[in-house]
Amino acid sequence: MPLKSDKKLTLLWLQGLTCNGNSHSFLNLSYLADVLLACDILYHPSLPSLQTLETISTCKLECDVLIFEGTFDPLMQRNNVMVGKLLRHYAQKARHIIAVGSCASFGGMFKASAPQRNSGLVFNETAHEGPLLQYQEKVINLSGCPIHPEWLGYTLSMILQEKKILVDSLHRPIELYSYLAHHGCTRNEYFEWKVDSKKFGEKEGCLYYEQGCRAPMTHASCNKILWNDVSSKTRSGTPCFGCTEPDFPRANFFRTKTNMSIPDEVPVGISKRSYLTVAGIAKTFHIKRLEEKLIDYKTAD
Ligand code: SF4
Repeated sequence: MPLKSDKKLTLLWLQGLTCNGNSHSFLNLSYLADVLLACDILYHPSLPSLQTLETISTCKLECDVLIFEGTFDPLMQRNNVMVGKLLRHYAQKARHIIAVGSCASFGGMFKASAPQRNSGLVFNETAHEGPLLQYQEKVINLSGCPIHPEWLGYTLSMILQEKKILVDSLHRPIELYSYLAHHGCTRNEYFEWKVDSKKFGEKEGCLYYEQGCRAPMTHASCNKILWNDVSSKTRSGTPCFGCTEPDFPRANFFRTKTNMSIPDEVPVGISKRSYLTVAGIAKTFHIKRLEEKLIDYKTAD
């Protein structure tokens, strides 16, 4: 998306408990230079910035866009200042607040270190809890572990162009999160005819039943806006593990929980009875083409 704006955005990037994954992902944005030229970076832990963390910690500056990466821990300090105090100061005047990653959105990975205390900015999983509840109207959640760089690129582009960003009930932009990660997967035909993949990395088969693929229950555009412009987890033979949803991370990755061979969870919006009826019929057919290797390397020359 082209970045056209007469006025530069003042951007401040703060961190809670984090692995820096979203910062690293953002640095892979194909038009990163355009974004950086359209913004004044007040402070970012890894990018050249106008101010130091020390100056930021005096709480005397302001920003247009406050970005927060990581789980919020109310006991955490940066430069001897409580992160909660920093957040509330900059949130007050910011026009937009962006939570990048599932940790900042819902608590994510680092919530586990103190589940009763830690949270996202305005959500603790799906419960409305967090340090910026009073500013929640301004908060945009970009969940993902990590986010796709394009998701933040899109959000900043919309802000720069002063366009309204419509969000879902979990404050995620609907343009990015109304899709399921299942949409656009190259294995959809295998899903329809219930042909399962037996191991990771295969080109053939669906990863839902045997490998725990959560894409039919996960709101994300990973198979629409491809990673590095070419691929996605499922395209490379790895199941989606639902990293954009509020209950991430959950136990037993890569396993489809079943009860008497029936999946515990079925695709969003489909009743278990409808799913089982369609799946039962599909399984009675055997489509030779779908049971064969896509590429037979022995005969291919
Ligand atoms: S591998 Fe996952 S995303 Fe792809 S078709 Fe199967 S369930 Fe859907």
